[in-house]
Amino acid sequence: IEQTAYQNDKLAMLGRISASIAHEIRNPLTAIRGFIQLLRPHLLQLGKDEYARIILTEIDRANDIIYEFLNSSKPSAPQKTIMSVDSLLKEVVLLTESEGLMKGCEITLDEGDSPMNVSIDVKQIKQVILNMVKNAMDAIEDVGEEHTGLIRISTGAENRYAQISIADNGQGMDHNTLVRLFDPFFTTKESGTGLGLSVSYRIIKNHGGTISVDSKKGEGTRFMIMLPLV
Ligand code: ADP
Repeated sequence: IEQTAYQNDKLAMLGRISASIAHEIRNPLTAIRGFIQLLRPHLLQLGKDEYARIILTEIDRANDIIYEFLNSSKPSAPQKTIMSVDSLLKEVVLLTESEGLMKGCEITLDEGDSPMNVSIDVKQIKQVILNMVKNAMDAIEDVGEEHTGLIRISTGAENRYAQISIADNGQGMDHNTLVRLFDPFFTTKESGTGLGLSVSYRIIKNHGGTISVDSKKGEGTRFMIMLPLV
């Protein structure tokens, strides 16, 4: 699936708009955080310190999300380091395993035969793969409670590219979703942003790589990332 010039314009505009929105959201969050801290002793007296703790944790989480989002929507050049594909994927599995277990998904990693090194912005590429694994969990959850979810991450080398495949046995996609899934703001989820894949697309493109997808409604989906080998 190719990204059109129209989508690229939309992405550049999205970068500018999101930077200013994120900024505008941060200011009120800072104010809320300050006032909750002022109220904290009173809440403690009422035996409601737990509420203050939750509010502070959630504000910090929102700030983290905005920070991540600002980072990813800025069209900044990747800060590249050389890393092995396997160790990158191991970290992703570590980060997602427990959430997967809670959601009834087993995540497996097939390590490649020979070590592959890629020159990548680790934070950005990790974000791409994490987003794909999260999407896979969502697709599995949507099938139903009794469904045994499987997310299989595998690697291979092909023509001087490292290939990373993320396959799930979730609900899959119909044609209408498949042709739009890289569009900024396209989402089929109630609380989705529709940004994950459009940002991922740009990150991979900035690394000289490609993303492709193969999906069948009712069977599952496989995303394939190709990154140039060092
Ligand atoms: P979001 O997750 O916020 O919706 P994304 O850009 O990550 O945004 O994904 C866009 C849409 O692509 C999703 O709403 C979903 O419909 C579809 N999608 C992405 N990954 C998968 C997957 N593994 N299985 C089924 N559908 C998927």
